[in-house]
Amino acid sequence: MRKKEKTLKILEILGNEIPEPVTELDYKNPFQLLIAVILSAQCTDKRVNLVTPELFKHFPDAKSLSEAEFDDIFPLIRSISYPNNKARHLMGMARLLMEKHEGKVPPSYSDLVELPGVGRKTANVVTSVLYNEPRMPVDTHVFRVTQRLGIAKGTTPLQIENQLVALIPDAMIPKAHHYFILHGRYVCLARSPKCTECPLTELCNYYKKNHKKLTGGSPT
Ligand code: SF4
Repeated sequence: MRKKEKTLKILEILGNEIPEPVTELDYKNPFQLLIAVILSAQCTDKRVNLVTPELFKHFPDAKSLSEAEFDDIFPLIRSISYPNNKARHLMGMARLLMEKHEGKVPPSYSDLVELPGVGRKTANVVTSVLYNEPRMPVDTHVFRVTQRLGIAKGTTPLQIENQLVALIPDAMIPKAHHYFILHGRYVCLARSPKCTECPLTELCNYYKKNHKKLTGGSPT
């Protein structure tokens, strides 16, 4: 089976398994999503969702956050990873939003990556989730799942991103992003993938290789 055909089959199966492919970060507007995605770097969505309600209460918009000092923000996010850096990034991000974008989250990728704390992955998530742009943010789950399945191969997220964007039709990319993340978070776990519960075994290189090793025979 050709890689493109295999990828479409995988997406079709995951689409049946995951009827609502949406981000698990809680947010009510673009400003809140941008904050949540910045905070989610090297941290779980669950943990981010625990701190954001209080953070959003204190800082409901870019203006209020731009006027905050480090010590106003840090205590509210201290339980997530890298709180020092992230508190500074949030301050800088909100100040730049006020200076250059009238306090609004800019819709363009190139404006987003200029904001402190916003790299390629964060800008990809924001433009994909908010504007349905055909962007593929590659986090640890996308990186692992797509390589196990054998539809991408590389040593950097950018290599994987470029291959997936070339393989998947534009209109399907935003959903595909969520499929891979959710599949990696709940089924294709990093240490012990739940292959016995997975509907993708017949299409999965990792499964075929490891199943063969275990049985000493041909993969079924
Ligand atoms: S068969 Fe196993 S390794 Fe392959 S995608 Fe499913 S859970 Fe992951």
